[in-house]
Amino acid sequence: MNPARSTDEVLARLRRLRATDAPTHGGRILSYVYDSGLTEIDELAAAAAALVQPVNGLDPTVFGSVAAMERELIAFCRTVFHGSDAVGSITSGGTESCLLAVLAARDHAAAPPGTGSVVLASTAHAAFDKAAHLLGVRAVRVPVDPDTTRVRPEDVAAALDDDTFLVVVSAPNYPTGALDPVAQVAEVAAAAGIALHVDACLGGFALPWWPETLPAWDFRVPGVSSISADFHKYGYAPKGASVILHSSRERHRAGFFADTDWPGYPVVNPTLLGSRSAAGLAGAWAITEHLGDDGYRALVERVAAASAAVRRTLDDIDGLRVLGDPAGPVLAVIADPASSSPIDPHRWSTAVAEHGFTLQVQPGYRQSDGTLLPPSTHLTFTPVTAAVVDELVAALHAGAEAARGLPPAEAPEALRTLAEAFDSGAVTVADALALPSKAIEAALVGAGIDPHTDPSATAAALDMPAVIAAIESLPRPVTAKMLTEFLAAYSTPPPDARTTAR
Ligand SMILES: *Cc1c(COP(=O)(O)O)cnc(C)c1O
Repeated sequence: MNPARSTDEVLARLRRLRATDAPTHGGRILSYVYDSGLTEIDELAAAAAALVQPVNGLDPTVFGSVAAMERELIAFCRTVFHGSDAVGSITSGGTESCLLAVLAARDHAAAPPGTGSVVLASTAHAAFDKAAHLLGVRAVRVPVDPDTTRVRPEDVAAALDDDTFLVVVSAPNYPTGALDPVAQVAEVAAAAGIALHVDACLGGFALPWWPETLPAWDFRVPGVSSISADFHKYGYAPKGASVILHSSRERHRAGFFADTDWPGYPVVNPTLLGSRSAAGLAGAWAITEHLGDDGYRALVERVAAASAAVRRTLDDIDGLRVLGDPAGPVLAVIADPASSSPIDPHRWSTAVAEHGFTLQVQPGYRQSDGTLLPPSTHLTFTPVTAAVVDELVAALHAGAEAARGLPPAEAPEALRTLAEAFDSGAVTVADALALPSKAIEAALVGAGIDPHTDPSATAAALDMPAVIAAIESLPRPVTAKMLTEFLAAYSTPPPDARTTAR
């Protein structure tokens, strides 16, 4: 039985649930959320979303508001990305924009099903692996220069083959914040007649107003065929808004799905969804209309100031250093190999959390040429970071002193034993991947990684350095399967869900 509850009761319960969430505002979390610090734009987006709540974004011929907002957002993007003829579609997020970039490029190149490859820098977002997986194309990851973490154009050139229909670079990449050499890679791609996608999901609405001069990475660069950019990152829109832009109408149209061959209404979908909410579109449209160039420029200045202050701090901390040469609003911190007392970045992250700031740990990554992108800790700066930057700087210093001398975290004991079994050949990856869901859950529980022990447990309760150490020591496909089990458990009701007291 599902009992009815009053609207007040329902909302009161949601408020209690929201109180268990990580804080979305105030600059305490340096990932996931992009807080402008302007209450008025959060309220504006909410009001805009409420106005279009009943609308179906599926059909702009019936809902003219959807068409108008979409046209105006694309026009905004034309000026921001210097593509006076660019065309595109508003999507639900970066992953959808990246999927559409690959889909459109594949169909524009007319690569037969089951063939085709995308060449991407090893630092490109996992969304492109997802696109390759879903579309049945190969993703070929090219190592980046481990010193700068930028991809080298000659390495891209060497990775191209007859199958390649798309090259992907980032502006900037998420793991290290480096801006790939877009112009040089574009020359390589153009010489081979291959499309080039610039993934600006992260930086698309920050780099255009960045106070320091950056190399051109947008449609000013000849050979750039598409750009993805997330309104729900540095556009400060609520989650659910991104854009995919193309240099030509043909490339854009190649990403559409149209079907008149069934008994229902003619289906024409520019994006992956059918019926779709207009809330994300309305939120993004309202915020860009309100902020304009000057609004974005002022916010970006705060991001850049916070970033500069933290970089100066990191220069001062013996034992830590910035990985590569980031340009823009994010960076990654590693143990300084040149220091006599290097600090483990994951222990540092845990210690900084005790001082009130949540950073994001990233595993080390062995590139295909054998070079290592070391274990790191990621920091995303937003305009509100500037408001708390003194406190943040103090926390980064205090965390460094607390973590100094600590060895890197180890994987939980049971998973260390498992890693040895893989190393000795006693267990194969195929064996592990064939295990039933319940057995994988049991392995996680045995390792002390149990989402069931506390149903209200949030990420803060997890020993992330130990989880990352496990990811580093086990075959990656096995850890992907384990994390699938772990995450699925969060949305699986317990057997007694409906009788449990709330
Ligand atoms: C966030 C991000 C994506 C994926 O975007 P989602 O909105 O999380 O789906 C893709 N590329 C880069 C560089 C990103 O930072």
